[in-house]
Amino acid sequence: MRRKLIIGNWKMHGSRASIDELLLSVQSLVGAASSLAGVDTVVCPPSVFIPQVAAVLSVGSIACGAQTISEYEHGAYTGEISGSMLAEFDCRYAIVGHSERRSLFVESDAQLVEKFVAAQRAGITPIYCVGESLPQREAGTALGAVSAQLQVLIDRVGIEAFAGTVIAYEPVWAIGTGKTATPEQVRQVHGHIRALFARVSVSVAAGLQIVYGGSVNAVNAAELLGSEDIDGALVGGASLKAQEFAAIITAARSAYKSVETINSLKR
Ligand code: PEP
Repeated sequence: MRRKLIIGNWKMHGSRASIDELLLSVQSLVGAASSLAGVDTVVCPPSVFIPQVAAVLSVGSIACGAQTISEYEHGAYTGEISGSMLAEFDCRYAIVGHSERRSLFVESDAQLVEKFVAAQRAGITPIYCVGESLPQREAGTALGAVSAQLQVLIDRVGIEAFAGTVIAYEPVWAIGTGKTATPEQVRQVHGHIRALFARVSVSVAAGLQIVYGGSVNAVNAAELLGSEDIDGALVGGASLKAQEFAAIITAARSAYKSVETINSLKR
């Protein structure tokens, strides 16, 4: 049974003071790690705050991640941060290919593939983002768009390299817009992604964590996370509000528990 994964993407928000307050509130609202069995939580702060976040989290059950990662190991790459540097500060995850990186910073599929490789080289779990634009959704080509983004990566690293990694399905039209994909739309894309992997390796496909991102909040989380094929959420805006983020984590716990109960009744 796959665990649920909740990832908070803080984007370029926060200050030293607000971050401490947010983390301490979330930790106290979700309670002890043992009460969240089956759920992993990650927060991805702006990189300058990573040491501060890692220090606060060292006593809790939440992990620290990065919002992006350099494809290079070291060298004359002004402004970049490598996987080994992130790993030194206990970053265990890195978001790769967020739609804002793709559109605003013109990161290409070819470059993102190298970032995925760099994360794995440093022992960091890549969270690889894919998702269709609104025109693609309206033209009925969403599945093809997602397959094409993944195929570039599969061609470079092979299916087996995806063991233990995370794919985030984030329809671009749902990010930061307040428009959420329906659970059925998400299940269709997640099923399509899993089938793509299962053609080569049933075990990699079965273990792959596929999370959804796009205007997830405290109200819609339970319905989305209640689907067995939605393994978690990548959360932007709502991850900056302690009550909302804690409610999403708690919804993930309830969803995991229900599937666990159903599975045990089937046995
Ligand atoms: C995101 O930043 O990946 C995201 C999904 O943002 P929001 O939850 O605000 O839509």
